[in-house]
Amino acid sequence: MRIASIRSHAAAIPYKVPRVTAHEPMRGVSVVLVEVVTDAGVTGVGQIHGAPLKEICEWVARLGEIVIGMNPLEHIAVWEKLFALTCPRPGGFLAQDGLPSPLPRAARPQITAAIGGIDLALWDIKGKVAGLPVFRLLGGENRPVPAYATGGYYRDDGEPDGMAEEVASFVAKGYRAVKIKDGGGTLAEDIERARLAREAIGRDTLLLLDCTAAYDLETAIAFSRAVERYEPFWFEEPLRWYFQPADFRCLAAATSIPLAHCERDLHRFTVRDFIVSGGVRYVQFDSTRHAGFTESLRIAALAEQHGVRISPHQVPELHAHLCAAFPGASFGVESNGVPDPLWSGMYKRRAQLRDGYVHLDETPGFGIEIDWDFIKRHAA
Ligand SMILES: [Mg+2]
Repeated sequence: MRIASIRSHAAAIPYKVPRVTAHEPMRGVSVVLVEVVTDAGVTGVGQIHGAPLKEICEWVARLGEIVIGMNPLEHIAVWEKLFALTCPRPGGFLAQDGLPSPLPRAARPQITAAIGGIDLALWDIKGKVAGLPVFRLLGGENRPVPAYATGGYYRDDGEPDGMAEEVASFVAKGYRAVKIKDGGGTLAEDIERARLAREAIGRDTLLLLDCTAAYDLETAIAFSRAVERYEPFWFEEPLRWYFQPADFRCLAAATSIPLAHCERDLHRFTVRDFIVSGGVRYVQFDSTRHAGFTESLRIAALAEQHGVRISPHQVPELHAHLCAAFPGASFGVESNGVPDPLWSGMYKRRAQLRDGYVHLDETPGFGIEIDWDFIKRHAA
């Protein structure tokens, strides 16, 4: 079997009300779907969440040309071939071997995203060829995978954000863990937000606080000590983007709240240092943002050996397959407490999300079927 062609399809839908974090207002939701077509008539679908969409689609096309003719079941060979293009090779600058010169540093986020989208499609193909869902290829059991509900965003239009009412509604839907956005106000306001959330959800639901990389070390320590009384389950992206594993380790030593991180990492080598340094207890690596399912598996295997749990960022219908394969090393998957309009419309079939769990089924591959008419209507 050979890879015959690779296509990408970008789609986007604006939110009626922007979802605002401490870092930015998100004004809409987008996806790049990657179709890998084989000469055996089997097609796999992967997906990418990143930006800019046009640039990512161009990288999918460019990298796709390089792997046409390869065996789609040899996902490691495909991954290694593409990732290697980001580095020098003997005489690579001359491109005499028919491959591109080492790829530009500035495009690494889009390149790793494109590799991830292709890699996910190859896993979908592998499952379809084997007649098995991905979690079964990995030896996982078909048990419901816990999902938590993300919400509690800020608003930037002066209207009340309704955070407390919203998270209470997630509990009413059956979620046993909810996450709010925090870190966008003064320290006193951020602490009060945690108190309000705890009051709204009661003592029996886990409370996850996501500060979207808002704090320096001193402020993160002050915040964590002040909110410990509200018993947060985790403190996510506590430190500013430039802080390193050593800083996370300092913070971890100063608080009893476990730290969650790594949704923005491009590959396993940076995640490794967060895991082995002992700073981070929940790893949120996102296979749809960067480097794919293959990289997620490598990270999950390492996390398990260090007593760190995986809790992949978003896309529960795909990431539940990973969690099902690492039952002793996963906390669960992230889902939107208020589903986004793209997720609600883009599938004809996917794993069901209800009562705070993802219910995988026996459909081969990732078990998804795309509504291509919907994607065309929202083409970006
Ligand atoms: Mg996050």
